[in-house]
Order: sequence, then C-alpha cells, then structure tokens
Amino acid sequence: SSVARQSLKIGLVPADGIGREVIPAARTAIEALGSDIPKPQFIDLLAGFELFTKTGTALPEETIAALRECDCALFGAVSSPSKRVTGYSSPIVALRKELDLYANIRPVVSVAANPSGKPSVDLVVVRENTECLYVKQETIIATENGREARATRLITERASRRIGRMAFELALTRPRKEPGKFDDVTIAEQLVDSAVYRLFREPEIYDIMVAPNLYGDIISDAAAALVGSLGLVPSINAGDNFVMGEPVHGSAPDIAGKEIANPIASIRSAALMLRRLGYIQGADRIDNAVDEVVRQGTVLTPDLGGKSKTHEVVDAIIKRI
Ligand code: ATP
Ligand code: MG
Repeated sequence: SSVARQSLKIGLVPADGIGREVIPAARTAIEALGSDIPKPQFIDLLAGFELFTKTGTALPEETIAALRECDCALFGAVSSPSKRVTGYSSPIVALRKELDLYANIRPVVSVAANPSGKPSVDLVVVRENTECLYVKQETIIATENGREARATRLITERASRRIGRMAFELALTRPRKEPGKFDDVTIAEQLVDSAVYRLFREPEIYDIMVAPNLYGDIISDAAAALVGSLGLVPSINAGDNFVMGEPVHGSAPDIAGKEIANPIASIRSAALMLRRLGYIQGADRIDNAVDEVVRQGTVLTPDLGGKSKTHEVVDAIIKRI
C-alpha cells in the first residue's frame, strides 16, 4: 500500500562479505530513480559476524532501534562461522523476528533471450521466516553411546496460517492469474524431495512454492541454479508493517573483496522492496534496466560467464534506468 511520503527513509545494513559491495550498488540504483519515488534518505547501520569479532555484538541495539524508525531497509549478507562461536547468533535471523518479518518472498525468474518471449522459470518461493529449525533450541548431550545433537523444529498453526495467507495473496497477483478468490487458487501439496525433483524437471508448473523456513531456503537456492546464478535472485523479508530487501545469496567469502560480485540480486531486491511499498513505476524501471543488461549479455560478472567488474554492471544498469 502506497502512503504519500515526503521522503523515504531507507536503512542500509551491508553486514559482511559481498554485502558491502552489493548494497551500495542497490543504493545507487534507488538514487537513479529521481522523482519516481519520494526523496530517499539513507541510514547506514552496522551488523554482522565481522562486527561481532570486533565488538562482541552482531546486532547492536541502535541498529534495531534505527530500523524501527525507517520506512524500509536493505540487508546485505552475514557470514556463517564454520564452527560454533560462543555468544554469536545470526543477526538476520534475529532481525526477522524483531521486526516480525514473517515471510521471505523470493521470485526466481529467468530472463528470456527473446524480449517478447516468456521466461521458462517464473515462480515465487514464499519461505516461512520465523520458525522451523531456526528457533535455536539446540543442545549437544553426552550419552553412553557418545555425543548426541538435538534441535527443535517448530511449526505453529499461527505462523503456518499467516504464511499461507501471504502466499494466497501473492497468487492472486501472478501472471497466470487465478480468478480473484482464494477458493480458486489451485493447491498441490508436495513433499520436499519430489517438489525439488519436479522443480528441476518442469519448473514451469510452479507459480508459488510455499515452504517452511529450511526447505524454503534450499528450494530457492536450487531454483537459483535453474536461472544461472545465485547472484540474480532477490528477496524481501515482509511482515504486515515493514519490508526489508535482501539478496538470496550469502556473504560469498570466496569472492569477497575482488570486485566481481554480481550486484543484480541486491539491485532487484531494492526493486522488490519499492514494489511492495507501492512504487511500481520505480520498481519497473529498475527491473527493466536489469533485464536489458542481462539480455544484451556484454556486461556481466564472471558468475554469468562475463568478465566485467561489479561497478561496470552497476554503471550499465544505471545508464538504462
Ligand atoms: P554464507 O555462509 O554467507 O551463506 P556461502 O559460502 O554459503 O556463504 P553464498 O553467498 O551462499 O556463500 O554463495 C554460494 C556460492 O555462490 C559461492 O561460490 C559464491 O561465490 C556464489 N555467489 C553467491 N552470490 C554471488 C554473487 N552475488 N555474485 C557472484 N557469485 C555469487
Ligand atoms: Mg550460503
């Protein structure tokens, strides 16, 4: 829903790794929109594993407080430590809970080679964002047969209902539009293994895939492979009162600092965020510019087979916006 605003206060949380390279790219794309959106005001905010190693806190209170004052936000990525680190827990998982961003909406769309053609993959993964194995009730206990790791996987009726509702609302806006009533949406319940198999065999059958937290994460990474790169896939974390854009990829430590991260997932996340706030024209301008650059295929980062640097891709997109 679009509210008449004088300015748009946008929190920026680049966090770790390539988050620090791709969030500035998204900012540049938003700035290029000019009068299509209220004047953006960016608030730089800290979080992340690296911050934790320096200061002992991964998500400062000030960051949460500042985000509550923003109209929306963009989050980069956090590194997951390879070993359990005492006192550390993921700031993005905490933020999703703090701001009650109960849905992670991840559109996975291939860019058709022919501008008028239909993309072969065009689906939205709707990932439940607050529970499942992410409730952090984990223990390791010693038994007479050795150590035993246990984790609680929580699925509540309340969270299942609200993520279901979000998925239905989204279904009504899809190109293969259902007639406009929840009753008319076709539901096919599937187990995750066969769902992934069918996703790879015939991705065109899916409009929306709604899944619990962990399966939703895995399904969207898998779907990202179908469209060529994790570096293309955006998301928003959405609740009833706030929206935070976030590329689906992680902090990608293997390529961080090399200026070769694909900025498109982050730039598209900004477009998704704006679309959710009702700034359709601005969102379309960003998405169309990205589509053109990908379709043209001359300025691409190495994950898509190109030789270009992050900033060259950003420049090409900005020129088209
Ligand atoms: P994390 O623990 O933060 O999730 P990760 O090692 O799982 O880190 P991902 O960010 O999930 O890394 O990336 C998985 C693979 O995809 C890596 O090889 C990474 O380089 C690649 N990748 C991810 N994002 C991008 C991007 N924006 N541009 C190019 N390659 C990317
Ligand atoms: Mg990852």
